[in-house]
This record gives sequence, structure tokens and C-alpha cells, in this order.
Amino acid sequence: METKVIRVDEENIDLQLIAEAGAIIREGGLVAFPTETVYGLGGDALNAASSGKIYAAKGRPSDNPLIVHIADMKMLGKIVMEVPEAAYKLAERYWPGPLTMIFNKAECVPAQTTGGLATVAVRMPSHKVAKALIEAAGGYVAAPSANLSGRPSPTAAKYVIEDLDGRVDMIIDGGEADIGLESTIIDLTGKTPMILRPGYVTEEMLEKAIGSVDTDRTILDVDSKQAPKAPGMKYRHYAPKGNLVLVEGAAAQVVAYINEQLAWHKSRGAKTGVIATDETADGYHADCIKSVGKREDEDQIARQLFRILREFDDEEVQVIYAESFKSQGVGEAIMNRLLKAAGHQVEHLPDTE
Ligand code: AMP
Ligand code: MG
Repeated sequence: METKVIRVDEENIDLQLIAEAGAIIREGGLVAFPTETVYGLGGDALNAASSGKIYAAKGRPSDNPLIVHIADMKMLGKIVMEVPEAAYKLAERYWPGPLTMIFNKAECVPAQTTGGLATVAVRMPSHKVAKALIEAAGGYVAAPSANLSGRPSPTAAKYVIEDLDGRVDMIIDGGEADIGLESTIIDLTGKTPMILRPGYVTEEMLEKAIGSVDTDRTILDVDSKQAPKAPGMKYRHYAPKGNLVLVEGAAAQVVAYINEQLAWHKSRGAKTGVIATDETADGYHADCIKSVGKREDEDQIARQLFRILREFDDEEVQVIYAESFKSQGVGEAIMNRLLKAAGHQVEHLPDTE
């Protein structure tokens, strides 16, 4: 299939082009589009065949449900059984934005869209191109991240093209994603709201709106034998082709330890890389040293992480070491993605400072 790539500027949206993209989705086709989190691969959420095409284009396991994107709170009622009070409170603060809520689904949402679950995940993105597209497409756009299954989520159109050219009808280039990590997912169908995936909207922010929330511990716990409640969290995601190991400890020890490991791998002829921070990048001896930014600037780290994981693939790095980050706030989401990318390989150095 020929994939049409178009460029749409968020500040000056070409409605003609958006109408064309919307028509593709209405007719059962697929359009990749920018959102504030990462790029999404959109199809008509209420059309079972469209959802089927999304799984096929991504190579995504069909038990991994899709998030339904809406552009208006008025559209929510049709696809869910009921809207709990907590959803209104969360929507008031964080919609449109990087938050996905899970509800009991209404009949009209096909099982293909929800991976066979009786619940449906819904998000209202804030990106203006996404909003315009959802409206033009009829109001309900199912969209997982627009990458091939297993690869890092795309934060720019060029990565969508890399993964999906020839597999989708259209790709809308809307520039770089602002946030760079996928949405926070909160399940509102149980007694206590539960975070199934950490993201830019943190636990603290959620609790400000609705009081106490739980977290699905299986998503951070290395040894958990239980399946995570968000089916997608069980798959090894974001994985670079090289072997990635996280190192946790005081900065000076981490740099020394990583350099020691790098020297050994280099002596065996491996191409080496480091995910460093601005504070430490100069201290490493590796073939590819990439800084995710200043350690304190979590927004910047979030924005750059997936791009950097992809760059290591482009440069065919075989052994990658990464520094760890504090696991509060946005850091929790960053660590969650890094741990998954590393297949939970972590070296904890003894704290000697
Ligand atoms: P992606 O859009 O690629 O970020 O993937 C969507 C994520 O949302 C996956 O981890 C899914 O497992 C999760 N998800 C979607 N719908 C549901 C649902 N109804 N219940 C639990 N998790 C869901
Ligand atoms: Mg994804």
C-alpha cells in the first residue's frame, strides 16, 4: 500500500487535509497522527475491521487493547456503561491531556477494539491536530502508539515512517511530541481507582483530584508472577536491539562501574553505548554516549528517551548501559519505560557515599 505523508502545522491547521484524513478513517482506513504524548495509529474505534487492521499493521498481539480517543466530553457517554463521579473530576483537571481512563464498555464498542475485555480505555488528547482529526473521523478513534510492536513509541513522524511506511494509508507529520511518554492509565472500574501505567499525570496529581488511588504493583515489581492489569504491560516493549542494563547508585560509582563494564565489552569487540545525563556524559568511555538531559529536568528526559533508544538501534550498538532516575513523579514513568526496555536488568551498586 502507498502511504501518503502530509505535514500539518498545529498552529495553522489545514482543514482540507484533515477532512481527507478523517474520510480515510471513516471508510475503514488507518491514519497515524501526532498527539502530545507520542504518535498514534488511528482507525475507527467502532469498526471491528479497522481495529483488526491496526493490530495487523503494528504486528500487535490481539489481546492488547487499544485506547479510544475522543475530542469532546459529550462523546464519552455513548461508549461506556456509566461515567463515575471520579471521571468527571479527573476530566475537569486533566482532559484534554495525557490521561487515559478505563470504564465498563458499552455494547457499541467492538471486542476487537478492547482486546476482548469488557472494559474500554478512553483518552482525550490535547494536541490540536489530534482533536481536529478525531472530529473529522466521526468522534471515536482507536489508536495505540504508531510503532511496530516491541519498538520504542514514536516521538516524531520520521520514526512512524520508519516503522509503518507501506502499512498504513496516511501519516500526518505534526512535529515532535511534547511529552514523549505514553499517557498515564487509570482504571475506574474497581472500588479504588488504580494506576495501570505511570505517565506524565502522576499519582500525586491524580490524588489531588479524586483522593486515594492504588497502583498496579506488578508493573514495577521485577519478580511479580501476576499478569499486569493493562495487558500491554506484560510485553517486552521499547526494547533496543542491543542489550540494555540499568545501573543504580551514587553518580561517581555509577560512572566508574559502567566504565569498567564498557572496557570489558570493548575488549571483546562489542560496540558500546551509554544513556547518560548532562552532568556525567563527559566521564564515560563508550562508542556512543547519549545524554537524556539534565538530571533534574524530568520533562526533557521524558521527551528524549524513546528517540535515544531508537538511535542506539540506528547505530547498531550492542551493549548499552543506562543511569537510573528517581522514581517519583514523572521519574516513575521514566523508570517504568527504562526497566521494560532493559527487560528488568538492573545492577544495584552499594551506596558508599
Ligand atoms: P498504547 O496505546 O500502545 O500505549 O497501548 C495501550 C495500553 O493501554 C496497553 O498497555 C493496553 O494494555 C492498555 N489498555 C487499553 N485498554 C485497556 C483496558 N480496557 N484495560 C486495561 N488496559 C488497557
Ligand atoms: Mg504502544
